[in-house]
Amino acid sequence: MFSQEPVILIVDDAASGVRVLSETVRGLGQVYFATDGPGALNTARQCRPDLVLLDIEMPDMDGYEVCAALKSDPEICDASVIFVTSHAQVENELRALRCGGVDFLHKPLNVLVARARIRAHLTLRNEAKRLANHDALTNLPNRLLLQDRANQALRQAIGTKGRVGMLLLDLDNFKSINDSVSHAVGDAVLLEVGRRLVKAGRVTDTISRNGGDEFIILMPDIRSLETVGSFAARLLSEMTVPFETPSGRYTLTASIGISLFPDDSADMDSLYRHAEAAMYQAKRDGRNRYGFFSSRIEDSIRARHRLDQHMRSALEQGVFEVFYQAKVNVLQRDIVGVEALIRWRDADGKRVQPSDFIPLAEETGLIIPIGRYVLLQACKDARVWRERGHEICVSVNISAVQFKEDDFLETVKNVLEITGAEARMLELEITEGVLARDVDKSRKTLAALKELGIRVAIDDFGIGYSSLAYLKQFPIDVLKIDRSFVQDMLTEKLDSAIIDAIIKLGQVLNLELVAEGVELPEQAAALRDKGCLVMQGYLYSRPAPFAQMSEMLENGPDIGEL
Ligand code: C2E
Ligand code: CA
Ligand code: CA
Repeated sequence: MFSQEPVILIVDDAASGVRVLSETVRGLGQVYFATDGPGALNTARQCRPDLVLLDIEMPDMDGYEVCAALKSDPEICDASVIFVTSHAQVENELRALRCGGVDFLHKPLNVLVARARIRAHLTLRNEAKRLANHDALTNLPNRLLLQDRANQALRQAIGTKGRVGMLLLDLDNFKSINDSVSHAVGDAVLLEVGRRLVKAGRVTDTISRNGGDEFIILMPDIRSLETVGSFAARLLSEMTVPFETPSGRYTLTASIGISLFPDDSADMDSLYRHAEAAMYQAKRDGRNRYGFFSSRIEDSIRARHRLDQHMRSALEQGVFEVFYQAKVNVLQRDIVGVEALIRWRDADGKRVQPSDFIPLAEETGLIIPIGRYVLLQACKDARVWRERGHEICVSVNISAVQFKEDDFLETVKNVLEITGAEARMLELEITEGVLARDVDKSRKTLAALKELGIRVAIDDFGIGYSSLAYLKQFPIDVLKIDRSFVQDMLTEKLDSAIIDAIIKLGQVLNLELVAEGVELPEQAAALRDKGCLVMQGYLYSRPAPFAQMSEMLENGPDIGEL
């Protein structure tokens, strides 16, 4: 709303006048210029000046007229106007002040004095703005500034497809203190509430007081709904710390309503109304709690919270399992590798699909210990298989969150050490998008993996980030053709053509190719004819537990007629 730097507009039709004035205000702010009245009004509408230095004698439109026009435009009428003239008549000066000017400077200027006066006006103007935008008691932003920040946050969120949250916090039993003790104590409590909120918030949040005992917190750029919920919970617990005042200790609670853009509100107005409605609901539900306006959001947060708790205990109790799916070379008619796939039966014995819990685990960071667990198990199993004489490579899926972790490489090395698995038996599957996000860092990590002797496959190739240029720069070993292309290749020309292109690309870059999701012998035959010999899919093997995969390794895969 107010940029730190004041904006100054200099209006003078004479070049010499402009020169002296800009010399005078040098370093005091951001300076704009105009050389006539209409130009001045135009520029003012764009730059929203805090201060206008306005020459009186100009052709067409004189300074008085410009000032009157400025003052009648609600968008720019707040600017402080200082007239500048070589005419010394008292009449001029009076007229200038009457039409809305705040001061009068005589030419030739005494630069030092003029500068000091301009600075004094800028200070006044700044103070006026602060007063207009802040609550007098707590000095927090008021509703006006909040509105401005909210609009800014909404615009930004539209651009970035992000989320904005509004939390309306209302104290539960403030009235009793204020009415029965004293207003001074009430004020002290409100001040302290403001302080605690500011301390709990992020720097980017706007903590504002809406009057009375109602505070509004604007959270731009929200990453996950959980953040908002846990922030609200933290605010509530901050409020329960007793308030020490000169007249004693008081215990308070608060109720918070939360609305979200764009999930349940489309603009500032509905954000506020919905936060308010949610706050009243929280009061009806028994106070000292927070609630979301949308029950759908509330339910989904609860469900995600439960899932998160279940995952944590699953991890502790070691109930995650690692299954394996074979990769088969159809010419050699042999299993050349296996992919490790996580499996989970929850407490009720129900199977939970990876696609139903991996995304949440990625958001909460739980994927890091889960991913480490899979890596560890896969390396242990690889070692056992090697001891039994099976020279196969075990692939492990690595999520973006793991790959980005600073100690990712350390973890991998550490797991190899603990398990005694050989690096060349390990392959990591990474999706395209992960590498594209931070090319330099990715290249370094991949180079370090290569150095260790670990293989890298690009998973789901073809559906993600499709700049092919990066392929050349990264030391990778394998392209895995995404299942979606294989699925439709027999009926859709385009999918078949994409597979052709991927195979060509792989051959030129000297990469191994693996087709995912092969379910039909016809798909396998077509892929083989196109030049992709390694396949993975239900046709050959469903993901299976270690024991079953071990049997398959002993007996060889069932390739059938091809
Ligand atoms: P993905 O890496 O593309 O894994 C292949 C998925 O395709 C597996 O699903 C597998 O069971 C399934 N699949 C294999 N052959 C066929 C087929 O012929 N037809 C069909 N329709 N599907 C087939 P799953 O096990 O449900 O895993 C889904 C995704 O979850 C995986 O996709 C991977 O992105 C992720 N995931 C699984 N395990 C892990 C893990 O340990 N760590 C991480 N970060 N992600 C994992
Ligand atoms: Ca995979
Ligand atoms: Ca895949």
